[in-house]
Amino acid sequence: MYSHQTEPVVVLGGGVIGLSIAWELAEAGWQVTLLERNHVGFGASSGNAGLIVPSYTLPLGGLDAIGEGIRAVFGGSKTLCLGRLTDWKKITWLARFVAAGRMRDRLRVASDINAVAQLSLHRYREIMGVDEGSFCDLTNCGWLDIFETPSSLGKALTEVRKLESLGNRWEHLSPNEVYDRVPGLDVPVSGGILHTDDWVVSPDRVIGAFYDKAIRAGVTVLEHTEVTRVTTKGRRVCELGGNFGVVPVGHWIIAAGWESGTWLHRMGASQSLMPGRGYSITLMSDRAAPKHALNFVERHVVVSVQGTRVRVTGGMDLDPGTPATDAFRLADIRTTGQHLLPQLAWEESVDWAGSRPMTPDGRPLIGPLTGWDNVTIATGHGMLGMTLAAGTAALVRQLFENGGRPPAQMRPFLPG
Ligand SMILES: Cc1cc2nc3c(=O)[nH]c(=O)nc-3n(C[C@H](O)[C@H](O)[C@H](O)COP(=O)(O)OP(=O)(O)OC[C@H]3O[C@@H](n4cnc5c(N)ncnc54)[C@H](O)[C@@H]3O)c2cc1C
Repeated sequence: MYSHQTEPVVVLGGGVIGLSIAWELAEAGWQVTLLERNHVGFGASSGNAGLIVPSYTLPLGGLDAIGEGIRAVFGGSKTLCLGRLTDWKKITWLARFVAAGRMRDRLRVASDINAVAQLSLHRYREIMGVDEGSFCDLTNCGWLDIFETPSSLGKALTEVRKLESLGNRWEHLSPNEVYDRVPGLDVPVSGGILHTDDWVVSPDRVIGAFYDKAIRAGVTVLEHTEVTRVTTKGRRVCELGGNFGVVPVGHWIIAAGWESGTWLHRMGASQSLMPGRGYSITLMSDRAAPKHALNFVERHVVVSVQGTRVRVTGGMDLDPGTPATDAFRLADIRTTGQHLLPQLAWEESVDWAGSRPMTPDGRPLIGPLTGWDNVTIATGHGMLGMTLAAGTAALVRQLFENGGRPPAQMRPFLPG
């Protein structure tokens, strides 16, 4: 099913994951059609922080993070907000999230993901870094974690030392070194950690680049095309249907972001996904922009420079979102950002919200779907979809080129 290059491969979802896979497979000679309900980049893949961060592969931590989430319900924290707990799917997901929270397990996940992040960075540099680096604003600016309290700095230093074997370089900065690197910073700080190997891109430009490359490689991209039906025969998917009629399927790749969860359920898989809603405010000028990407750890606000714009991001709400909640959360991030960095160009900006596809243990799901001969899944990249996209696509290409045998780096992410 993987070796017959004339059978149509149908990719569901025009986010960074679906687009990069569609391009890689078309480059390798497969005939690819990509179906996207809205326009490419509509989901989580255009308005995010754009960090390519091999340093940030430790998943959120079980009970600690749940404590934060409960405090968020009562207004005391802004990281993970649990939202309403009326839904069994969410309660089951949270139970799995807590079960996956032991440090030993999280370190194993971090190590597996780091390998894909390194592959991804290598691939980004290869495909965009040399000729089109300025086009995607791929920049090795480093990522600076800024701590206001000694206790959170101490906790982060312990974690970063535990991850040292992965080879990500970092520096511990004193408060004065933080102020030197972030002119205009207007809060007392207890120190910083600078991750020197981390990069930033402009996500919408990456989407544009993958789209152009996909079209040039022969991918048929159908936008405003919503898949609602799947026709199966035995262990095979034969057709996808929806508002566009039907398309025949030789091989189906599910890359529909957080909504992939619905398809996993419909195909009988036990894995579950939650939408992790986040928000961004894009400032249209880079006036007074910091030279590093910044992470205000206790405030859960990230600032990244993307070409001539500055983006301020935050929030992790386990709910699909409503316009009222989005407006409330965006106002909160704006107030916090203005307090931290008042000199930025806050006067002209664009608001955005999108949902990350979150697995309970932080492991993406990449590989053939158990029980089916012609279905592959590529989702669940959570907070790291930009970081992992080029690497994920390279692994899926290897899977196809190996006739369906998963490459070694894919094995920790196989569904089921
Ligand atoms: C605030 C925020 C900041 C972030 N910052 C970073 C960062 O700095 N670095 C990083 O690595 N990651 C970051 N992320 C995470 C990253 O954005 C996501 O992991 C990534 O975009 C997921 O990509 P995707 O292609 O899987 O999903 P999506 O981008 O959501 O794409 C899925 C697509 O599938 C389409 N679709 C769904 N169902 C159907 C259907 N039935 N028919 C047709 N089409 C369908 C949707 O319309 C959507 O366009 C951030 C996310 C957020 C929210």
